[in-house]
Amino acid sequence: MSQGIFELLRAYHQSRENIRLLIEMSPMTDYERVGFIDAWQEEMADFFAEHGYCFACNKRLERCTCDEPLRPAASA
Ligand SMILES: [Zn+2]
Repeated sequence: MSQGIFELLRAYHQSRENIRLLIEMSPMTDYERVGFIDAWQEEMADFFAEHGYCFACNKRLERCTCDEPLRPAASA
């Protein structure tokens, strides 16, 4: 079953909210926090790719022109 970009983005925002709460409640160092967020972004990139979308630009992978497809934008 393929999901559309809107479903993926909804899942992403929901996941981001969960992560934010989890980070707030956990006694993490900044270093741990960065690693944690990196790992989560990797997971989201995989999730988008599984459904055929680029996580960085939200385009279909076949139309993606990112230098590093599947990687979130540095500013994200
Ligand atoms: Zn892209």
